[in-house]
Amino acid sequence: MKVLVINCGSSSLKYQMLDMTIESLLAKGIVERIGMTGSMLTHEKVGVEEKFVVKEEMNDHKDAIAKVIDALVDPSHGVVKNMSCIGAVGHRVVHAGEKYSGSVIIDKDVIEALEECIDLAPLHNPPNLLGIAACQELMPGTPQVAVFDTAFHQTMPPESYTYAIPYEYYEKYGIRRYGFHGTSHKYVADRAAYMLGASIDDLKIITCHLGNGASVSAIKRGKCIDTSMGFTPLAGLAMGTRSGSVDPAIIQFIAEKEDRSIDDVLNILNKESGMLGISGVSSDFRDLEAALNEGNERAALALKVFAHRVRYYIGAYMLEMNGLDALVFTAGVGENDINMRDVICNELGNVGIKLDPVKNRVRGREAIISRDDSKVSILMIPTNEELVIARDTYALSNKKIGLNRGK
Ligand code: ADP
Repeated sequence: MKVLVINCGSSSLKYQMLDMTIESLLAKGIVERIGMTGSMLTHEKVGVEEKFVVKEEMNDHKDAIAKVIDALVDPSHGVVKNMSCIGAVGHRVVHAGEKYSGSVIIDKDVIEALEECIDLAPLHNPPNLLGIAACQELMPGTPQVAVFDTAFHQTMPPESYTYAIPYEYYEKYGIRRYGFHGTSHKYVADRAAYMLGASIDDLKIITCHLGNGASVSAIKRGKCIDTSMGFTPLAGLAMGTRSGSVDPAIIQFIAEKEDRSIDDVLNILNKESGMLGISGVSSDFRDLEAALNEGNERAALALKVFAHRVRYYIGAYMLEMNGLDALVFTAGVGENDINMRDVICNELGNVGIKLDPVKNRVRGREAIISRDDSKVSILMIPTNEELVIARDTYALSNKKIGLNRGK
């Protein structure tokens, strides 16, 4: 079965087409500037070097998905004969609140539940819903599956997810920690167990998803028991442009001093803080490392703050799990920034974490990068959220097709 994976943002859309009978990628692409001037689709067919670029106005997500389908069935750049060859569509959906702890086939009830979650993810769930509606319209009858960023973290115990604020706010508004990047944390934890030749049920794992957005999770016997992001993805680690957790009183203080609204300050904490805010240079770790090498002190400070926060969570989660078997690095920074991995693991030998500086010189492929005498295995694992989405979509839609046949 061919599965189309869709990840809709407000003005962009990423997609991948996979053949799930052999789990291989056939094509991938991105549509940018949806609903703006200069909309553009860039499509890459596996094995073909030249990219297929379409520059046409795309006023909304339906326009964009129609162009994606055109590219996928294009006689020279496409990978399927026609639309009916697409067996199922998997959608990355950011927030499912407490409603779902796993992926689901999308039906009316699921759409309603996701609409109810818009309050919890006002930036993310609306474009996800637009993508689902567009696919339902353009591909009627093709099973659609939702795979949630929050689902993997639903196993957290109440003491991990409860904020120490009046309990009625949890009851009335669902204010609690949810966590994000769940698909990635789950994928790399499963891969780590496989690479170590162990059952995930026997392991205590800390997964560090360090990208532009970043989070750390504690995974005990395959279940997430804690994670650094919270009610929103603003919490936890310092990130590319996000502050991570700050003293909440700072928000009102800045609003008063700078004569800005609460909305403005939250925007600053989301978009002008983190590595960009501290360094004044960039949110991109490559730029920060370059600035560091030129002696830029604030870039150096930003990188130190980042590493400090990651170490802080690693320490906390080791204690929470009463030990650690595997420490995993993934996502843009975790996969590529050799220096950052080195700084994070620096001088942790006394707690059993010993990075091998030679094995650590790796990018783009899975590797065990700890020293042979390290009690904790350290792994670098490129994440593959699309594969997890495609696997769940394949499994659920096969089940649905089987059930329909049985009727
Ligand atoms: P997201 O999906 O959250 O946008 P990614 O996981 O794609 O983020 O990570 C993107 C980030 O990875 C970039 O902003 C950059 O900081 C970092 N990155 C990518 N390549 C490198 C590299 N070679 N060295 C250091 N950092 C890198």
